[in-house]
Parts: sequence; structure tokens; C-alpha cells
Amino acid sequence: MKVAVQGCCHGKLDEIYEQIKSFEEKKDIKVDLLLIGGDFQAIRNQHDLQCMAVPDKYKALGGFHRYYEGEKVAPILTIVIGGNHEASNYMWELYHRGWLAPNIYYLGAAGCVRFNGLRIVGSSGIYNKAHYHIGHFERIPYDRSSIRSIYHTRAYDILKLSLLSTSSLPIDVFMSHDWPNTIEQHGDIERLLKQKPWFRKDLDKGELGSPPLMKLLMSLKPKRWFSAHMHVKFRAVVRHEHDSTDNKQLEEYHTQQKNGSSSEPTKESEFSETQFLALDKCGEYRLSLEILDIEPAIASSHHDGLSYDTDWLAISRALHPNLSLLSTATRLPTPAVLSSKLKKEMKWVVENIGTHKRISDVQQFCRTAPGEGRSENAAWNGQPLWYTNPQTEAFCEMLKIENKVNPPPTEESVLGTPLRKQI
Ligand code: 5GP
Ligand code: MN
Repeated sequence: MKVAVQGCCHGKLDEIYEQIKSFEEKKDIKVDLLLIGGDFQAIRNQHDLQCMAVPDKYKALGGFHRYYEGEKVAPILTIVIGGNHEASNYMWELYHRGWLAPNIYYLGAAGCVRFNGLRIVGSSGIYNKAHYHIGHFERIPYDRSSIRSIYHTRAYDILKLSLLSTSSLPIDVFMSHDWPNTIEQHGDIERLLKQKPWFRKDLDKGELGSPPLMKLLMSLKPKRWFSAHMHVKFRAVVRHEHDSTDNKQLEEYHTQQKNGSSSEPTKESEFSETQFLALDKCGEYRLSLEILDIEPAIASSHHDGLSYDTDWLAISRALHPNLSLLSTATRLPTPAVLSSKLKKEMKWVVENIGTHKRISDVQQFCRTAPGEGRSENAAWNGQPLWYTNPQTEAFCEMLKIENKVNPPPTEESVLGTPLRKQI
């Protein structure tokens, strides 16, 4: 299938869809899917702007709100991860994942989905070791510190990703905003330094990019990895050694029927390398968009769009008790404890949800905050109210887990009604 991959978006959806359209006309092709690597800027209104960490001169509404309001509709199914310039209040509303606008799906802080057999994984945010081990404590109104820490990747979410099994169903695509640390060693580093000489200091110290992401790259061995953030196009190839013990510790909890897969499991040896591609940000003369032919490693009999990944649902249930909302370090279970938990949760998911659940059967886009041009009573320093998002409720209800993210504060409250947090 034809997959368009975009680096940072910075609110320029119109330009991206326009670029794809002209490419489609020129090449007489149809793009099936668009992947966007963060700094997406899902700004619904002026209040959301106050929740985005960016110097005042860059505080622009952008084009997203027209898609949110329904004035425009995304012409291609678009899958999005978060970066470090986001309407962080809206991304938190959909921490578990959800439709930001019709046909625009956010993978959440971390997540895995299937699209017509393609297994797509995403990790939002950027790495900062000061906040890596703490919980998701940031709440509206954000201060100067929490407006930044909110987009720092957490060990909790990385642990969930590390538990994805790849032995019988490989990962076709991994998306991250930040680059995996030391990825530059696997590509043309001299060329990179010619384009970005000021990277040398960080590279020499081994401090460019995210160390946990490189660990994931080495353990999950996805076929392709797409990143953004550094504002430069860069390719690399990571060759993996074949180790038959890879992924063994958690493998046992997986059922044989891998969610509608129609062919035999593919041998690990066929996935000996990860092709890494970083793209530039959106803008004239920038190498920000690439259109690729990508087929799933294992063909699927399901061609009905986006569906949940069974593994991910089991992992989400198993680790939900450890989802912390505190600013202290999070205690995470050991692999031994997780192994038996995951086995149990996989059984629960297969029995209660099944191995192929369409996302649109559970989560449908709905507006919570008003769009631009409609006002709400701004709280505190111009930051918005917070909302119980029905998509988060629906996801939690499917998994029979508590909505810790934005639970309705009172029994009488109506879903989607603006609610000021009780403090
Ligand atoms: P953003 O658009 O997210 O504000 O910032 C991206 C800019 O910061 C790009 O120009 C990118 O090259 C630079 N950048 C991002 N991460 C690093 C890093 O770890 N070290 C250096 N030297 N520059 C970085
Ligand atoms: Mn960025």
C-alpha cells in the first residue's frame, strides 16, 4: 500500500494534503495512509494555544481547527503521534488514543494499531531524563515547568511498548518524534554534520536522541522506523543479529491465532534490519514528505481499516494499575510478574473483545472543547477547562479499566460538558 510519511506538521495540514494530492495526480496513484511524526499542533481554539509550549511569536492557531470543526475533512486516514509542541491538554484528553478530528487518529502517549494488516506502533514526546521515571502528574492550569514536562516520554509508556510481542507478528512501522539515540552511527554521519554542524557537540557526548527508543529499536526490530524533530532528512539502516531467544521471556502468553493473520508466522531472520528515515518539518523546499510502498510483513484477511492490536489491549489492561498520576517516581513491575499477568490479560482480551476489533466500532470522533470562533469561560491564565472525553471513556469501558485521565467529576455530569477540575 502507498503510505505517505511526514516529519513535523506544525499545524500545516492543508499544505500536507495539498502536496500529497499533487503527487497523486502526477504519479497517478492513490495514497492509502498518512503518518505524521509529531509537533502536530491539534489546536482547537485560542485556549488550547495557551497549553502549547512555544515562544509567543509562534503561537499561531494553524489549520487544524477547521478539521476539528468539520469545515474540512482529512482526505486520507491520518495517524499521528505527539511531539514537543502540542495542544498538550487535548493530547492528554486522549492519552490512551483517539480521533483528534474525523479521519485523524492519535496513537496516544504510546500505542499500537493495525491498518489493513500493517502493524503500526508509536511513541509520543521527547526524552528528558529528569522526568522519565515520574508519573503523568501535569494538570491544567500548566505552569512554566509542567507545560514542558508534560511532553517528556515516561518509562511507564516505554515499558508498555517493550512488551509488544514480535515473534509471530512483526512490527511493520514504528513512529517516534525524537530520534533513537546513536541512530546517526548507522547512517551517513558526515553528511548529517554538514547539514547540522551544531549536532556535533551532542553526538560526541552520545546525547542526541532518546536512549529508551534505541533500546526499543534493538528489541522490537521493526521493519521501518520514522522520526521527525531534528528538522533534517536522514536515513540509516540498523542490522540486527538473529537471536532465537529474542522476545522469549514474554512469548508464552501469546495465542497462536494472531488476529486474523492468514499466513504462517514469518521467521525472525527475515527481519534482520530496521530502515530508519527521519524527515524534515513541513515547509517550502524542505524534505518533509515521502511516499513509500509498504506491505505488511504478514498479510491480513482484514481490509476494513483501523483496528486495535490485541497485544496492546492486553498490555494496557495488565499495566493499568501502575498508571501513576503522581510527580514521584513510578514503581513498575518486574518482567517475571508481568509475564503471568500478560498471559491472563491476553486470555481476557481474546474472550471479551476478540482478536479483531475495529476502532470505529468503539471510538468515534466527538468534539469536547468548542472550536475557534466560539468562546468558553477561560479559567485562570487563559488556559481552558478540561473535559471528560467520551473516546477515553469508551476505550476504558471496552477494557473495563478505570478512566484515570478525565473521569466525570460528579455523577450528574454530562459527557462532553466542560468541567472545571475540582481542586
Ligand atoms: P522543535 O521544532 O521541536 O522546537 O525543535 C527542533 C529543533 O531543535 C530542530 O532544529 C532540531 O535540529 C533541534 N534539536 C532537537 N533535538 C536536539 C538535540 O538533542 N540536540 C541539538 N543540538 N539540537 C536538537
Ligand atoms: Mn519537535
